[in-house]
Amino acid sequence: MAYDKNNIFAKILRGEIPCKKVYENDFVLAFHDINPQKKIHVLVIPKGEYVDLDDFNEKATDKEIVGFNKAILEIVTKLKISNKSNGYRVLSNIGSDGGQEVPHLHYHIFGGEKIGKMVN
Ligand code: AMP
Repeated sequence: MAYDKNNIFAKILRGEIPCKKVYENDFVLAFHDINPQKKIHVLVIPKGEYVDLDDFNEKATDKEIVGFNKAILEIVTKLKISNKSNGYRVLSNIGSDGGQEVPHLHYHIFGGEKIGKMVN
């Protein structure tokens, strides 16, 4: 699937739509989900144009892949939900069976309470 430059997260990255920012560095932007499913529900997106995790792992540089994944620890530490506290869950939906709605790679980070069953 080709990257759609008009997807909602691309607009957030360009500053055309506001977000409740949690964290930003050269590689990622993290912000609160507009429709939180848990007490803490944050989305982490790479700054590069990648449709999903497959696209990212296929096309991103090693620096981008490391930068994106390392940012998770920074974010959960900032949110005080790392495994030094009570922990959290990371999830990424990919494609139609995965239930992906926004075609820009994102990790969901859930925390702040028991997250419950892995899938339902
Ligand atoms: P997914 O189904 O994995 O593609 O998840 C997309 C997520 O993006 C959903 O949890 C939405 O609530 C969230 N979302 C959609 N639009 C916005 C927005 N403008 N700001 C923050 N989160 C959003």
